[in-house]
Amino acid sequence: MIQNAPPATGFNLEGQIDASKAADLYRHRRTLVPGQGAWATVDGVEKLIFCSNDYLGLARHPSVIASFKKAADCYGVGSGASHLVTGHSRAHQQLEEELAAFTGRPRALVFSSGYMANIGVIDALVGPGDCSFHDRLNHASLLDAGRLSGARLMRYRHCDADDLACKLARSQSRRKLVVTDGVFSMDGDIAPLRTLMRPVQQQGAWLMVDDAHGFGTLGLQGGGAASIFRMSAQEVPVLIGTLGKAFGTSGAFVTGSHALVESLIQSANTYKYTTALPPALAEATRTSLRLVQTENWRRERLQHLIQRFRAGCRQLGLRLLDSQTPIQPIIAGSASRALAMSAALEARGILVTAIRPPTVPQGSSRLRVTFSANHQEEEVDRLLDALDSVQKTLGGDEPCP
Ligand SMILES: *Cc1c(COP(=O)(O)O)cnc(C)c1O
Repeated sequence: MIQNAPPATGFNLEGQIDASKAADLYRHRRTLVPGQGAWATVDGVEKLIFCSNDYLGLARHPSVIASFKKAADCYGVGSGASHLVTGHSRAHQQLEEELAAFTGRPRALVFSSGYMANIGVIDALVGPGDCSFHDRLNHASLLDAGRLSGARLMRYRHCDADDLACKLARSQSRRKLVVTDGVFSMDGDIAPLRTLMRPVQQQGAWLMVDDAHGFGTLGLQGGGAASIFRMSAQEVPVLIGTLGKAFGTSGAFVTGSHALVESLIQSANTYKYTTALPPALAEATRTSLRLVQTENWRRERLQHLIQRFRAGCRQLGLRLLDSQTPIQPIIAGSASRALAMSAALEARGILVTAIRPPTVPQGSSRLRVTFSANHQEEEVDRLLDALDSVQKTLGGDEPCP
């Protein structure tokens, strides 16, 4: 006798959407058409953008665009297959060699996105019986990767080497992988890689750094967080960069030893079972890599704008986080306040999206202000004026939890 199952009641998408709207957590997309510099038409209206990750202003650089077009004429648009079939072009190969030289590592491997790189790498390195240790504020892709790998997942207090040491010492796992953002994507602070290194080495663990926001923006040639702390390939055996941020293109890379890259080619599913990045994107990225390394003025300009903004905020009494990178969040507190601040800025012609849970912890919703070498000083001043009047309209800070 087959027993009747109870009726399924699980799917109530409308209910979930209504609940997220009621909690001020509902997301919707804006439709943009890029204009001059840091301007774009947002749902039909011109706005000044302060929330893009195109930190160096390379996404629409004429040479990057020219390389893309030229390569599309030669290679076509799609790569046609995964890397292990026929998708691995000379453009990919050359980009990998140049990225390895750039990071001072023996090899590099290009992935289609940072999300996929993180999933593939962590899954290839750890599994059941192992443990990955994550900074509490790590990017969602790293945490998802840790969960998917089947390894135990521990989270240590933000940038806290003592808490990490304690958790590492207590763990009986066979392999221990410590994973951190290089520059934290929502806070803008830099992971103290040297300090984290101590417990990592004492416990025979491996350190993996995802420097999506550090490459291009930090270090003399844009070598990122690992370069400013002079971390060798032995100290940071797994280093991740993404190409969609400061590089202005799309995709990601992993750098490390020959053995690391060869084993990822064998066993990273998100590398093996996906179509290779368009070769034209690889060619465009080769050009942007040259610009990242040689045009130090972009980083200097960015620092100048950041310092101008921070000084302006201090004068206005606006509370900032301790960040020296192009990510300069303004903490709003509740999701509703972050939305109200974002809407008020938008009414003044400036787009800064509100970042809310679960992207950031409850009570720390924020405006994630970011700068680009494309911004003008007057535009930073305009942002400061707008923030001043928003603050006056909405009232002062909410206390931080
Ligand atoms: C943006 C980001 C990613 C994802 O990279 P994509 O190429 O956009 O998929 C991964 N890690 C960090 C820290 C990021 O900020």
